[in-house]
Amino acid sequence: MAGESNGSAENVIKIPKIKFTKLFINGEFVDSVSGKTFETIDPRTGEVIARVAQGDKEDVELAVKAAREAFDHGRWPRMPGSERGRIMMKLADLIDENIEELAALDTIDAGKLFSMGKAMDIPGVSGLLRYFAGAADKIHGQTLKMANEYQAYTLLEPIGVVGHITPWNFPSTIFFLKVAPALTAGCTMIVKPAEQTPLSALYYAHLAKLAGIPDGVLNVVTGFGHTAGAAISSHMDVDKISFTGSTEVGRLIMQAAATSNLKAVSLELGGKSPLVIFDDADVDTAVHLALLGILYNKGEICVAGSRVYVQEGIYDEFVKKVAERAKTWTVGDPFDPQILQGPQVDKTQFDKILSYIEHGKKEGATLLTGGKRHGEKGYYIEPTIFTDAKEGMKIVDEEIFGPVMSLMKFKTVEEAIERANNTRYGLAAGIVTKDLNLANRVSRSIRAGTIWINCYFAFDPDCPFGGYKMSGFGRDLGFQGLHKYLQVKSVVTPLHNSPW
Ligand code: NAD
Repeated sequence: MAGESNGSAENVIKIPKIKFTKLFINGEFVDSVSGKTFETIDPRTGEVIARVAQGDKEDVELAVKAAREAFDHGRWPRMPGSERGRIMMKLADLIDENIEELAALDTIDAGKLFSMGKAMDIPGVSGLLRYFAGAADKIHGQTLKMANEYQAYTLLEPIGVVGHITPWNFPSTIFFLKVAPALTAGCTMIVKPAEQTPLSALYYAHLAKLAGIPDGVLNVVTGFGHTAGAAISSHMDVDKISFTGSTEVGRLIMQAAATSNLKAVSLELGGKSPLVIFDDADVDTAVHLALLGILYNKGEICVAGSRVYVQEGIYDEFVKKVAERAKTWTVGDPFDPQILQGPQVDKTQFDKILSYIEHGKKEGATLLTGGKRHGEKGYYIEPTIFTDAKEGMKIVDEEIFGPVMSLMKFKTVEEAIERANNTRYGLAAGIVTKDLNLANRVSRSIRAGTIWINCYFAFDPDCPFGGYKMSGFGRDLGFQGLHKYLQVKSVVTPLHNSPW
């Protein structure tokens, strides 16, 4: 597979040679202590791309030791912020120089659209690095006028050794959502990427070394969750876990933190986000947003707009148009620039989505489009839309993480709010209406961390992102995303000698 060409004649893509498959610990690529490896699979074909080192407890031990040493005695936390920022800028430049190769790695590993990787994901991560690099010399505490005869100032200090545990759906973006602010803060870290998508993380480790990030500051341990991931979350020398993944695993991470050293935890978890479309909406715009909301990244996105509520006045027109447009949504090889939807990440995810579709049919929802696998090879699924869906059905209540939309009709604003909130999740929501007063009012009533009005998936390094309810707590992005890697120290001084 490595080194092959792919795509149409006028757009031949070079599939990258896999250069990095070992653990990255203390600035070196090393085999796992056990010598074990695991396969990473190309979801376009189900074939093995490469075997990658399988890190376990012993490897985590070495990585934490390196990170601890780099934090307690190394240069990185003590370096002037401007210098840390300069190195991060250099890393951003190196990423830009390797955009095609990095985008292609995420395409073969995760089935992501190559065109989107090149235009969005990879430039997005260099942008993230530059945003946080610019903040590295602007981390300030406050001066406090205390009552009585004292005054104080606060210092913002790096929280220490951080364990980042990441999912497979945005291997590059989520790596840097976590790594960039933690580097800015002066932390050292161990990243455990998802076992389905380890390749780009190892490439970033290589680029980090080239950029001048000191050994031990950024370690990458590839491997499985219940072994390597669990070893990080229960480690006594890890000061914080920053986790993105499922709600179920988020719970295990909190338990591990509670029963080990009470490390700080932030969790970015699952979602079942509502998109609420009001009668006055432009139906074509609403259809576009609804399809984008569920089909972008083949529905493997935590903020997918998987519950679409349409007001009764435009419901029939919406259903007709969304079905027509979904049928033109192209599914196929993610290297092909004409394709809008690639394969699901792996067989497990593929089977899970198809099983939800079967549940939807059995529970009485009506299949409007899709409902089957696409093609004979690889893990492709047709864009699938159910009508006659309702709360209480598995397809409406549970996160599917695939290209499956549940479409529902509502009458009043109050009903829309109540149903939008009828979920254990609270990650995001969308509102489509021309009435901005209504949109702002409804925004205040929906319990979710991000509300998109007349848009969807609008992210920016400056705009905090995270969940309400069982979608987690803590925020990525923005200054809030930085502050979770800092802690506050109060330094108190008397105004007079011996005030006691
Ligand atoms: P997952 O929870 O199965 O795995 C996430 C990571 O946790 C992986 O690296 C995995 O190896 C690790 N892990 C698994 N078991 C572990 C354990 N016992 N201890 C420590 N680590 C463990 O999630 P996934 O299937 O990779 O990703 C899909 C989920 O992630 C969805 O629920 C999705 O909504 C969520 N997600 C959330 C966001 C967000 O920002 N809120 C973003 C992307 C994905």
